[in-house]
Amino acid sequence: PVDRTPEIQEARLKLPILAEEQVVMEAINENPIVIICGETGSGKTTQVPQFLYEAGYASSNSTIGITEPRRVAAVSMSQRVAKEMNLSHREVSYQIRYEGNVTDETKIKFMTDGVLLKEIQKDFLLSKYKVIIIDEAHERSMFTDILIGLLSRIVPLRHKKGLPLKLIIMSATLRVEDFTDNTRLFSVKPPVIQVDARQFPVTVHFNKKTPLDDYSGECFRKVCKIHRMLPAGGILVFLTGQAEVHSLCRRLRKAFPYQKNNSAGGEDDKEDSVEEIRKFKKSRKRRKVLALPKIDLNSYSVVPVDEGDEDRDIDSDDDAAGSDLDLDLGDGDSGEDEKSDSSLPLFVLPLYSLLAPEKQAKVFRSPPAGTRLCVVATNVAETSLTIPGIKYVVDCGKVKRRFYDRITGVSSFRVTWISQASADQRAGRAGRTEPGHCYRLYSSAVFMDFEKFSAPEITKRPVEDLILQMKALNIEKVINFPFPTPPPTEALAAAEELLIALGALKEPPTTGRLKEQLAAKLSCPISPLGRVMATFPVAPRYAKMLALSRQHDCLPYTITIVSAMTVRELFEEFDRPAVSEEEAAQLKGKRARFLQMQKVWAGQGPMQKLGDLMVMLGAVGACEYAGCTRSFCEENGLRYKAMLEIRRLRGQLTTAVNSVCADAGLYVDPKMKPPTEAQVTYLRQIVLAGLGDHLARRIQAEELLDDKWKNAYKTALLEDPVFIHPSSVLFKELPEFVVYQEIVETTKMYMKGVSAVEPE
Ligand code: ADP
Ligand code: MG
Repeated sequence: PVDRTPEIQEARLKLPILAEEQVVMEAINENPIVIICGETGSGKTTQVPQFLYEAGYASSNSTIGITEPRRVAAVSMSQRVAKEMNLSHREVSYQIRYEGNVTDETKIKFMTDGVLLKEIQKDFLLSKYKVIIIDEAHERSMFTDILIGLLSRIVPLRHKKGLPLKLIIMSATLRVEDFTDNTRLFSVKPPVIQVDARQFPVTVHFNKKTPLDDYSGECFRKVCKIHRMLPAGGILVFLTGQAEVHSLCRRLRKAFPYQKNNSAGGEDDKEDSVEEIRKFKKSRKRRKVLALPKIDLNSYSVVPVDEGDEDRDIDSDDDAAGSDLDLDLGDGDSGEDEKSDSSLPLFVLPLYSLLAPEKQAKVFRSPPAGTRLCVVATNVAETSLTIPGIKYVVDCGKVKRRFYDRITGVSSFRVTWISQASADQRAGRAGRTEPGHCYRLYSSAVFMDFEKFSAPEITKRPVEDLILQMKALNIEKVINFPFPTPPPTEALAAAEELLIALGALKEPPTTGRLKEQLAAKLSCPISPLGRVMATFPVAPRYAKMLALSRQHDCLPYTITIVSAMTVRELFEEFDRPAVSEEEAAQLKGKRARFLQMQKVWAGQGPMQKLGDLMVMLGAVGACEYAGCTRSFCEENGLRYKAMLEIRRLRGQLTTAVNSVCADAGLYVDPKMKPPTEAQVTYLRQIVLAGLGDHLARRIQAEELLDDKWKNAYKTALLEDPVFIHPSSVLFKELPEFVVYQEIVETTKMYMKGVSAVEPE
């Protein structure tokens, strides 16, 4: 018995999935596994949990679980469903990595996929659930893929036990064959329920030309044109990152200011000032630091799916002439300048994952009377969230993605073209309530060159962290695991090899036939050390360092170094081209100051051998000592955001270490003393143990056949010479043996995060 308000009931009845309630529930009652496909906005995420609830799938000892690849969806969907059902957040709750509102009364639980994976580690049969919904399966996030593989085995196990578990996989209408036609995954093909999309036609307009890089500026001009010339209807703009979103919001608000009329509704539509956001984040951070002992490890990856889109401002004021004819409605100079026009108020809202939930929720409300809604979003609006009333979509065609270095496993964020499937998803956002228009800021020729679908995440990144987690679940023959799409065999082999070298897996036998040896190598069981490593939410190389740091009170230092290496990019970039003489001078001054500080942080005497890792340790120590303020960071060339993230990770790792060894009694000390000489010696051994496969040896004089080997190093992994990066404190030192954190290829192959070692 659910007591919904009449308005909610009315809105629900408009959703295509409501007409299918009976079909959906019959399929679920009669089959252990069901796939539900439907266009975004058809009501899958908000309604299916309610169907299940009303059919009695939740009780005092069983919860309905729903996973989302994105935190933003987990939070906002739990809120929406609670509201629709007139239930409190104690009953319809969410759990994401750092926070959640789950209680003993929780009946419907939204969570990120990483959270459920962690729960499987504690309770393989997931006994507290009667049904699990894997949402947004088409996104093919690595954890979602693994969950589907695991659940394909858990469901029959639960059936055998007489405690059946239902699995529902929900997806946009994309490539479901990877799930349905994969007999290793599901020996019996699960039924697929197709929900009618009730999509209105969307007219797609391509740009004649593709802007080289100023797509933000192009978005601005396009929104201005739409707003000035086209009939009522919301605008949704797709950009790639948080900074871009904010800068476009600012520009649009300046161009079409909306003055809040005090008498009209008490709603708070105030602009999200930078200060407000800062305050919100600060309060979030502070809460986390204070609540340290309670943080639990709910995710393996340090950066979840869409949390990487935080970078510095890419505000572009470049006013290249707009060259689009599709929207040629006789405009004169529209949008080219930012002259304020308050006669045409535009109600501009940002939307991205790290935005405060109450700000995110604003996009679902109707805009104030007399204004047009314009939502400037990152990829989150592509499928996870459906914004009502959108008639126009402006698609920059780009997405910020994480790329992994095959050799070093280190990732970076890059802005690339989206896939054709994504472009079509984005366009579809325009036709939910009436016929719409999608403006693609790239040419149709460029579109034809897009890949059809984006490849599943699992095929694109090194998998050593995933393999370690799977081994911790006692899945030894990883190669036999029913992946929806398996990672390349080389990636699996490389991961096992690294984990064996780190001691996380037991050594395979070295006798017997080569083929058997090879097979054994790909099915090594986890070692006790590996189990400890698996509890740390960082890359296995770094987890090894943590696991080795018990002695000599080295843990706080290792935790700090590992946090800094995981967060990366601690220091500001001073080499960027300056726009003016003045800026050039300023950069030069900042750089000089930073170089001075770098020397201080690098320490003296034997400490210096720890090289760049000592600099990281010193920088974090100094920053925390000063209270980790924005001004300290700015003065000393540190990135404030990175420093806050390091603080959060130090807290999380400290909790993790304490839970592994109860007697460690660690806490995050803001006044951490520098390590002693003896400790530095141990730290260097620890670093070598973790980065052993990243060892490089300086080329000896007698090997110098060629000039290109001058000052070069040789590694086990690469044929070509590698060099210490000029930003390293060891750049002039040139120690004989070094280990490095990563290799970055620019004009040469450069090692970054370098530390001197003395191999035995
Ligand atoms: P799907 O999962 O199939 O993409 P959803 O269940 O997410 O569909 O959305 C169904 C409808 O519910 C959409 O039309 C969306 O606009 C509406 N909706 C979702 N969340 C909210 C919210 N927080 N406030 C108002 N409407 C919402
Ligand atoms: Mg959904």
